[in-house]
Amino acid sequence: MQYSPLGSTGLTVSKLCFGTLTIGPLQRSFSPSVGGRILAAALERGINLVDTAQLYRTYEHIAWALKSTDCEPVVVSKSYAYTAKDMEAAVLEARQHLGEHIPLVFLLHEQESEHTLRGHWPALEYLLQAQTKGMVQGIGISTHYIRAVEAAAALPEIQVISPLINRSGVGIVDGSRDEMLAACQTAVAQGKTLFAMKPLGGGHLMAQRRLALQYLRDQSWLTSTAVGMKSEQEVAYNVALFSGECVDEGFVEFDRVLHVDSWCTGCAACERACAQQAIRVRQGRAVNDPDRCVFCGYCGAACPEFAIKVI
Ligand code: SF4
Ligand code: SF4
Repeated sequence: MQYSPLGSTGLTVSKLCFGTLTIGPLQRSFSPSVGGRILAAALERGINLVDTAQLYRTYEHIAWALKSTDCEPVVVSKSYAYTAKDMEAAVLEARQHLGEHIPLVFLLHEQESEHTLRGHWPALEYLLQAQTKGMVQGIGISTHYIRAVEAAAALPEIQVISPLINRSGVGIVDGSRDEMLAACQTAVAQGKTLFAMKPLGGGHLMAQRRLALQYLRDQSWLTSTAVGMKSEQEVAYNVALFSGECVDEGFVEFDRVLHVDSWCTGCAACERACAQQAIRVRQGRAVNDPDRCVFCGYCGAACPEFAIKVI
């Protein structure tokens, strides 16, 4: 496993990051012990960067893994908070579960543009204060938008950018893969550190899994890539691939499906939560467009009826 500095944060992280969205309630709904065991296996194999978010509700899974190993990974979390008060609550919630000693990087979740960044400015200002007090060790944004990468690149306050990028560009909302690449490289030139998300496009690129992961592994400008993992077998495969070793292509991976339960009321909260415009209410019920969907499960978190599952 390769390790490199996480930009100006002073932290050093592995080229492969464990994305916890897949083990939490928005996707596979593993218990903290079942999900935590998979994460612990990843930490013991040398992964030392863990991606989560307030939305993912996986702090308990991470805490379980931390208790069962001697590893002390860097944890990246995210919040949609607009205000300083809400961002403070988000950081305290993470600290409560992870302890005081685990390095914590906090991102503004799913930024879309300079406009949304300005809207979250009070939350960003809280993070800057929290950094001076040692509550967080790094600050940044996550985004599916090229224009948000461009806006963050120009802001001296931002250290870390987590963009959606993958081999075919699936899931990038406002342009192509090559346009996102150009924006990322501009950000790197501005001194930002980048770690990628959705290397498999939320499952769309599963059939070309090895090529899709190698594509991001071989981008020398990327500090790390967050990959969602649902089994120890998958951990072993990803660690071997990112370490440049031979990989076992034999294990079966199931395609993901977004399921809307019959008790959907048609309230459209899921529509508003989806940056990909991949779910729409038709004739009183939510309908998913699998060609646009990246199976992030964010619509499920917004559903007041708990009617959406990514399975
Ligand atoms: S948010 Fe839930 S209840 Fe509302 S339309 Fe979407 S699936 Fe249906
Ligand atoms: S429909 Fe739901 S799972 Fe699919 S991209 Fe939109 S928010 Fe994510």
